[in-house]
Amino acid sequence: MRFPLQKKIGSYLKLAELIFFPSVCELCSRLLEFPDERIICRSCLQRLKPRRTSFCLCCGKFFDDSGEPHFCRQCVLLRPFFSVHRSCGLYFGSLKDTIILFKYRGYRVLGKALATFALQALGREESLWWGVDNIIPVPLFPEKQKKRGFNQASVLAKELARQKDIELIEGQLIKVKRTPPQTSLEASDRRKNLKGAFKVVHDQGIKGKTVLLVDDVYTTGSTLQECSLVLMKAGALEVKALTIAQA
Ligand SMILES: [Zn+2]
Ligand SMILES: [Zn+2]
Repeated sequence: MRFPLQKKIGSYLKLAELIFFPSVCELCSRLLEFPDERIICRSCLQRLKPRRTSFCLCCGKFFDDSGEPHFCRQCVLLRPFFSVHRSCGLYFGSLKDTIILFKYRGYRVLGKALATFALQALGREESLWWGVDNIIPVPLFPEKQKKRGFNQASVLAKELARQKDIELIEGQLIKVKRTPPQTSLEASDRRKNLKGAFKVVHDQGIKGKTVLLVDDVYTTGSTLQECSLVLMKAGALEVKALTIAQA
């Protein structure tokens, strides 16, 4: 039997939940009825499907065909500073909508669903996980992080580290330069824009390690490229990278 006070607290909690978490799915407007449903309903989350086409074995760029994975022209000419990168899907449709809700609408709670989706898509990808000592999120400039309330890459990295039981390193790779949004720039300006934007605080924590960089969206790869360069300069043995989607 529940006491009246417990009952009252229970209803306040439910009320608080209704205030903080809208009770209908943000994507399809269906009522959220299961206790584990947050912001997006189960069936919309189940609609997130990993991309199954061919891809570049190095930079992870998706190809349109479904043939064997191979190296793209760019990676044949010049390998990036990271050894391998994989995305779960294209930045399109439900996946794009979910990332937007997570990143720009402040629904941090969606990080768990996105990390779980990432492991469904890439959890068995040996080339990505083999030998990884640490997971490192792509950092945000402190002012931007303060404004957003959280770093979306950190939330994803933390959840991946927890689910894969790999140690997370946070606060070692930092962003020291405020940069205009990458989306507002031409591809050629993106590299220039990010030059000197990242720094490793203490090389000691990175030296000799194989690390997995985590970010939400991969566009031209400039961010991963610049972070990887800084990590390799700090003595990392190898840098691998995972993103949820590629544009
Ligand atoms: Zn839905
Ligand atoms: Zn490539």
